[in-house]
Amino acid sequence: GELKGEGLTVRDLRVTFDGFTAVDGVDLDIRPGDLRFLIGPNGAGKTTLIDAVTGLVKASGSARFGGQELLGRPVQAIARTGIGRTFQTATVFENLTVLQNLDIAAGAGRRWWTMLRRRKEVPEPVERALETIGLSALRDRPAGVLAHGQKEWLEIGMLLVQDVRLLLLDEPVAGMSHDERQATGELLQRISEERTVVVIEHDMDFMRSFARSVSVLHAGRMLSEGTVAEVQADAKVQEVYLGR
Ligand code: ADP
Repeated sequence: GELKGEGLTVRDLRVTFDGFTAVDGVDLDIRPGDLRFLIGPNGAGKTTLIDAVTGLVKASGSARFGGQELLGRPVQAIARTGIGRTFQTATVFENLTVLQNLDIAAGAGRRWWTMLRRRKEVPEPVERALETIGLSALRDRPAGVLAHGQKEWLEIGMLLVQDVRLLLLDEPVAGMSHDERQATGELLQRISEERTVVVIEHDMDFMRSFARSVSVLHAGRMLSEGTVAEVQADAKVQEVYLGR
């Protein structure tokens, strides 16, 4: 059926490691279809926030997605609500083809998929994902030969075929060329027409070009939120980034 992005509502999120508070009471409201950039200096708590929402680290407070509380549930249960993420290093099956990678992702947890694939048809969601990520022509190439940017797009494609409605991407353009960054930004804009996208990012030029909204974390707290222009004009943000 038609995919619709869903919103994420985080309240008073707190993550502590051995007495050190990495996320210190964060509120976050991400509307369906948003393309939200989560920025902030190293150690601000960006990855930990995403880890908490996806169930990788224990957290207190609340994180609701599609009407369901996520905190306290196992990783797999959270994934089944339609949340998917990438990590800083792209993880694809290098010795399998692009198509096989998408196929495995699409078939995860779906018994009927194997039957469908025996007919040697490329299922419609896989075909659509190939097109969206721009890898149709490379579908039969081993993922290991792909360029760095293409691997990242494949990983995003693996979320799309799993019907992920909230994509959490950790520095997707790290190490990419200018052209790859541009293509990735356009890809994320297309995806956010149907789904909700949250991007952890260090690249400020990339953020300025593609963010629909921005949240700035600093020392575990939400420092500033708004449009790119609003956040850039915020004196608190300037202080953190420029030391003014
Ligand atoms: P960011 O993604 O914004 O760079 P992180 O979320 O990775 O920041 O880290 C936030 C803080 O929490 C850092 O000070 C980091 O050292 C600390 N931290 C992250 N993970 C752990 C962990 N597993 N154990 C202890 N400290 C951690």
